[in-house]
Amino acid sequence: MDEIRTLLTRTAELAADHLAAPVDTPVSRPVDPAALVAVLGGPLPDGPSDPLAVVESLARDAAPGLVRTNAGRYFGFVEGGVLPAALAADWLASTYDQNPGFAVLSPTAAALETVCQGWLLELLGLPSHASVGFTTGAQAANVTGLAAGRGEVLRRVGWDVDADGLFGAPPVTVVVGEERHATIGRALRLLGMGERRVVVQPADDQGRMTVAGLRERIGDGPAIVCAQAGNVNTGACDPMRAVTEVAHDAGAWVHVDGAFGLWAAASPDHRDLVDGIGLADSWATDGHKWLNVPYDSGFVICASPEAHRRAMTLSASYLARQDGGRDGTDWTPESSRRARAFAVWAALRSLGRTGVGDLVARCCTLTARFVDLLAEEPAVTVLNDVVLNQALVRVGDDDARTLAVAAEVQRAGVVWLGTTVRRGVTSLRISVSDHATTEGDVEVAAAEVRRAIAVTA
Ligand SMILES: *Cc1c(COP(=O)(O)O)cnc(C)c1O
Repeated sequence: MDEIRTLLTRTAELAADHLAAPVDTPVSRPVDPAALVAVLGGPLPDGPSDPLAVVESLARDAAPGLVRTNAGRYFGFVEGGVLPAALAADWLASTYDQNPGFAVLSPTAAALETVCQGWLLELLGLPSHASVGFTTGAQAANVTGLAAGRGEVLRRVGWDVDADGLFGAPPVTVVVGEERHATIGRALRLLGMGERRVVVQPADDQGRMTVAGLRERIGDGPAIVCAQAGNVNTGACDPMRAVTEVAHDAGAWVHVDGAFGLWAAASPDHRDLVDGIGLADSWATDGHKWLNVPYDSGFVICASPEAHRRAMTLSASYLARQDGGRDGTDWTPESSRRARAFAVWAALRSLGRTGVGDLVARCCTLTARFVDLLAEEPAVTVLNDVVLNQALVRVGDDDARTLAVAAEVQRAGVVWLGTTVRRGVTSLRISVSDHATTEGDVEVAAAEVRRAIAVTA
């Protein structure tokens, strides 16, 4: 026992040292992937080693290839940081090694999912009767929500897709926005609905799905409309109320990919962006983005628990069910999995309603501040309306200059941000999603981008 205590105490120290690194520690360093493999690799060990030595060597050898996504100066993709309470609770989840697939395996993991379900629905303004599954992320949540929708729209025309599959089934029209996220395409592939056979509803200049012609595109048969809250480039949200009204009028199922944008509902100042979102049928969102829990963590939410359960449930004679218990496997594509609700519960408990709202609002304010600082540069053009935590910034008039600025910022490693190509135009892509990011970090980041603009001129 003493050995385990020494091991875990030392590990906590290593973790705290990582988090307490000086603020100017590089966010990332150029590293040769093969060198990392070489130092971490070598032949399969012949036999056992001391666990403490294993952990010490991991901490030492992993360091050069770690990207500090949770230290406040990472502005790439949409990467949340880690709230202290969520981190600590996640350690306990691993320590307890609970499997939330079935209530009998862990009454506590089941109870935490039940509690988080209620809290999340309230926080995000979604129907209180909806079901929630704890997934790896929005990708798996998109698969699950679309599976529920696929099953339900076919059931309404007398086809049981879960039993009989899609061969010979009535066709399902899948309408997607022009600027849907790539994970919607993969979800449709996995569900046998095809990435290419979708019907595309055009988007406006901010990437929001338009409504004109939507009714005709949906048609009169079984149909699913995939809407989006939080365009991964611009942060824009589809006009949820209008889209849902048209879609429901046509009898279609509305699935919302709201990986980060759904969290706008938690901030009183941003809630209008997702007005009407509670009217949809299923939603996908992430915990590891804006809620700042560790990877991996996402949620699928479904207004019809029956459709949700039909699509996901599984049974076997040896899998015991408990009356009144929550069996997590009914709501996700997985059977056994990590007890993600430990970290989610701790995040929600430590922030509370106003804390989550403030986190969302602060990230949006800091994004606007970042853009204002960059806009002082004559070479800079801001390409989107900065409504949430995403901004697109172009330097000069050719793609090469913008790419050179990004490369210089990444090379220096003081902060990290990436690039994107939207409608054929390359830009720097800025996302503020980490609770640890301060106004000072944004000032450092803006100064760093301006330095890169100067040296690439
Ligand atoms: C990030 C994102 C996803 C995918 O989420 P994962 O957490 O990577 O599974 C889906 N849709 C949107 C809009 C996103 O921003």
